Amino acid sequence: MKILFIILDGLGDRPIKELGDKTPLEAAKTPNFDFLASQGICGLIEPVYQGKFPTSKDAHLSLFGYDLKKWGMARGVFEVLGIGMELGKEDIALRGNFSTVDSNFKIVDRRAGRISDTKPLIKALQKITIEGVKFLLAPAVSHRLGIILRGRNLSDKISDGDFHKANIRAPKIRPLEKSPEARFTARVLNKFLLNSHQILKNHPLNKKRIKKGQLAANYILVREAGKLKKLQSFEKKWRMKACCIAGGVLYKGIAKVLGMDLIKVKGATGKANTDLEAKFKAAKNSLKRPAPYRNEVSGAGYDFCYLHIKATDNFSHDGDFLGKKKFIEKIDRNLPIFLDLKDVLITITGDHSTPCGVKEHTADPLPVLVFGLPSGARGKKRRSFFALPSGARGKKRRSFFALPSDSEGGRRKFTFFALEKDGVHPPQFSSKFGRVKKFSEKECQKGKIGKIKSTDFMRRILTCNF
Ligand code: ZN
Ligand code: ZN
Repeated sequence: MKILFIILDGLGDRPIKELGDKTPLEAAKTPNFDFLASQGICGLIEPVYQGKFPTSKDAHLSLFGYDLKKWGMARGVFEVLGIGMELGKEDIALRGNFSTVDSNFKIVDRRAGRISDTKPLIKALQKITIEGVKFLLAPAVSHRLGIILRGRNLSDKISDGDFHKANIRAPKIRPLEKSPEARFTARVLNKFLLNSHQILKNHPLNKKRIKKGQLAANYILVREAGKLKKLQSFEKKWRMKACCIAGGVLYKGIAKVLGMDLIKVKGATGKANTDLEAKFKAAKNSLKRPAPYRNEVSGAGYDFCYLHIKATDNFSHDGDFLGKKKFIEKIDRNLPIFLDLKDVLITITGDHSTPCGVKEHTADPLPVLVFGLPSGARGKKRRSFFALPSGARGKKRRSFFALPSDSEGGRRKFTFFALEKDGVHPPQFSSKFGRVKKFSEKECQKGKIGKIKSTDFMRRILTCNF
């Protein structure tokens, strides 16, 4: 059986007065979500994260079953990979903003008036080398960019050059430990930021912008330095060949770090104008051709498709609850394309909540629905039965395969599944688990899954342990 794993970013919300004390998801007209919820099983997921609030990065990694203490990496790494830069083991990755500073380096605007085309500026800054360290840059969405420091003796133990505040002097990069590497990295990066300011200040594009009354993109604010760690691939961890369909840079980066293949979809923007129809079609196609577990030939179709939709979170950050509600309805209208998928388990949830009233991420539990479980799923026995991926052959009625858990204490633990020959079974729990009539934060509380931690979700769906 294959899995379609849909994440609606920042999905969870809180009741809003103007919506009759309903959340945007509750208030939205969502016949298709509701159908899947009533025919599938539902519950709540608590995001696992580090720090004060869940970030998309942490929330995603834990949903995919990764231990953040072991596999955590700075966001710069994911962003740089997500925009398509190649990152070496010794490289330092950073994310950055083009910004506007005055002659005293006081930050006037953190986003340089949300400048959109930064390619000429990036070109002018390419190939700068300082004390043997090369600086590589690539544009990301609008005012954002990715930066790689390439050279010897570099460290990611350096402070951010951005406190998310304007009207202060642009912060200098400081070493966060006493090592010569951290001190060296901070020094060359500070030099680069000064150098680049000189180049940007005099760049024709900025002179033109000033003439037009726009803000000059004359300084780079950098943050979240990180080094690439070798992470256990998703395929190795879960024995599934995975692909990703996403518009946003971070999500592509997460997929890349996990070794998922990126499927490019024209019109996938990571914004409200994204082409949902094209994304959904691509997701469906990615799962179409059979890819039995032991068939390692790539291109045989994917076992797992991670489909990410970002705009729900964007509306939430803007406090636009009506926009969020309407966008959820738009997603719902596009869902029927998946309803005839065979041998596919569909899961729909968010990565974290972003209540429109808070405009920031919160740790509130998120609604989740799982649709299309095989009939054998009872979850009582130690052994759970898995439906056979279409195309898989076997002489016996059942063949077993093992799913390794994380190795603990040097010993690998295995969970055994059986592959049934007669393929997937239609969902059978409509009467048994059909207490949830509407896909929403409130209704999903009643679901059979109950409240689970995000890090347990993958294992639960793979063992059909609900
Ligand atoms: Zn998110
Ligand atoms: Zn967000």
